[in-house]
Amino acid sequence: MANKNCIISLQGVNKTFGNNTVVDNFNLDITKGEFVTFLGPSGCGKTTTLRMIAGFETPTSGQILLNGEDITRIPPHKRPINTVFQRYALFPYLDVYDNVAFGLKLKKIPYEVTDKKGEKVTKMRHLTRQEIDDKVMHALKIIDLEDLENRDISTLSGGQQQRVAIARAIVNEPEILLLDEPLGALDLKMRKEMQLELKEMHKKIGITFIYVTHDQEEALTMSDTIVVMKDGVIQQIGTPTDIYNEPVNAFVANFIGESNIYNATMTGKLKVKFLNHVFDCVDDFQVNEKVEVVVRPEDVMMTVISGEADANKLKGKIVTKIFKGIHYEYVIAVGKSEVIAQSTKDYPVDSLVYLDVEPENIQIMKKDTTTNIYPEAYLDKNNKLIISDAEFDVDVTQLLKGSHVDDQLYLIGPDGKKYDLDDADVVATLGFTDFEIVDGHDNGNVNGVVVDTIYIGDHYQVLVRTPEEEDFIFETQDMWNEGDLVSIKVSPEKFVITLKGDISKYEVE
Ligand code: ATP
Repeated sequence: MANKNCIISLQGVNKTFGNNTVVDNFNLDITKGEFVTFLGPSGCGKTTTLRMIAGFETPTSGQILLNGEDITRIPPHKRPINTVFQRYALFPYLDVYDNVAFGLKLKKIPYEVTDKKGEKVTKMRHLTRQEIDDKVMHALKIIDLEDLENRDISTLSGGQQQRVAIARAIVNEPEILLLDEPLGALDLKMRKEMQLELKEMHKKIGITFIYVTHDQEEALTMSDTIVVMKDGVIQQIGTPTDIYNEPVNAFVANFIGESNIYNATMTGKLKVKFLNHVFDCVDDFQVNEKVEVVVRPEDVMMTVISGEADANKLKGKIVTKIFKGIHYEYVIAVGKSEVIAQSTKDYPVDSLVYLDVEPENIQIMKKDTTTNIYPEAYLDKNNKLIISDAEFDVDVTQLLKGSHVDDQLYLIGPDGKKYDLDDADVVATLGFTDFEIVDGHDNGNVNGVVVDTIYIGDHYQVLVRTPEEEDFIFETQDMWNEGDLVSIKVSPEKFVITLKGDISKYEVE
């Protein structure tokens, strides 16, 4: 084990249901007293990982160690671990005190007695009334509900009920508390309050918290360490600031906070080109390498253009402005691209502005070498995927597990909630072998020209560029020649799309 303060260690943990691998080679050491959050979109394997730590699921392979001991196959009740679920699961007919005391009344603890022969033997006994009372009152004090001990559960607010559920989980003094979206059922205001309270509670009790959420803001607010997951695979482990400032790939950047993500090319030593402009940067990549860049909205600097514009500077036009309390959020059109920027200064819509970014605020990431990524894609009112000017059919139900599209093209969630995806910004990815290129123009979704072919061992990698300068990399056995005019054809199920921001933004009444 890496460190002696490590309380729980997941080593090469896999979980498969049938042919479906939902947790893939998960490796993580958690330190005693740490607040760790598993963050990722619905279905990425967070709950399954938590359930394996709790003992409700057994890994298909790999090991889970608790304080260095293998607990992979130990049943849940023998682990010093308790879980708080999203639904409070309280007993409605018991009051607050009895809900918290419930488990303690059943619990037996070992004690030593001397038998007739004068030998010490270990026996089991129930807790005394006083012991139970001390423990319950202590737990109620931690969750700040001492005054409500005699209240009926049904008279409590959602937040208070969830606090009782937490008290019930901590009253047994577990070493680790698992929290599976515990605030998911609360309204936004209550959620925010409870986030701070949970963080306080964590400090007070000092035990290890492992928290599951799909809400990036919640993860950033509360955690010491965030584990970002996608499709059962850990993408990045780090502190909230690391993950925010130095995302390792476009998925993490997009998932954590608002960000501008662009395809870019290294045009020289510490020079990177995106938005058709060359910026100085601090990350050293090979000249001509295709990369992705992330720029956070708060790092975009704007100045209004007065007089004749300087041809060497990057220019844009403010198209929308929203007041966000402390700052304004602007969307600025730069050619066909958009830049999101934040500023405390108030500029009118339609202003022409210079844009700039400090070199250290341009985060450059290695490009994924198996997929085409389109970070500036969006959906239109017909749920078509738009990449530059090209239109593609796409399966939008992938944005929400268990959803369908109704005859008015609204996305309907499994809980009946309705979403209007018109103009929703998405990141679209397309595998190098997941589409076709066909000879001649106007035979597919978008036209292009073959600008490059590279022979890689046993196949060709063909780069097709559209008139809007979008690149589609395609892997094929067939040889294509530079300059060939082609069309790109994609079937709807091949695009993988993820929303920028939470789907709740698109909910309609
Ligand atoms: P959510 O936030 O929606 O709960 P999650 O990230 O917690 O998502 P999991 O609940 O761990 O994801 O599910 C991961 C995948 O495993 C999903 O595709 C889910 O359908 C599948 N899965 C989970 N439990 C089972 C099971 N018992 N049998 C088959 N598939 C399962």
